[in-house]
Amino acid sequence: MRVSTALAAETRQVEGFDAAACLNCGVCTALCPLGYEILPRRLFRLVLLGLEERLAEHVPQIYSCLLCRMCEANCPAGVHIAENIRALRTIVGRRRLS
Ligand code: SF4
Ligand code: SF4
Repeated sequence: MRVSTALAAETRQVEGFDAAACLNCGVCTALCPLGYEILPRRLFRLVLLGLEERLAEHVPQIYSCLLCRMCEANCPAGVHIAENIRALRTIVGRRRLS
């Protein structure tokens, strides 16, 4: 599997993108009205590791997020989940993954 250092670097430069603080605890998934349709912690890990091809497979999930922020209320790491997902939309668009 190819690792894209450019993807990881570009993501880290997006203002306000704080997914690196994610503890991978799964609380967000438990609270999300979409449940397992969207797994923020997995999306964040893929982009931070530069796994571009895997991220491309998850573009529909990135766009399914309602940006409702229900997940953020109990995130123990204070991750701005909805803003990060919004940033992912920008990134997948820029990199033509969608
Ligand atoms: S609740 Fe926060 S720390 Fe836990 S998996 Fe979701 S984003 Fe990561
Ligand atoms: S902002 Fe997105 S990931 Fe968070 S609870 Fe709402 S739909 Fe789920």
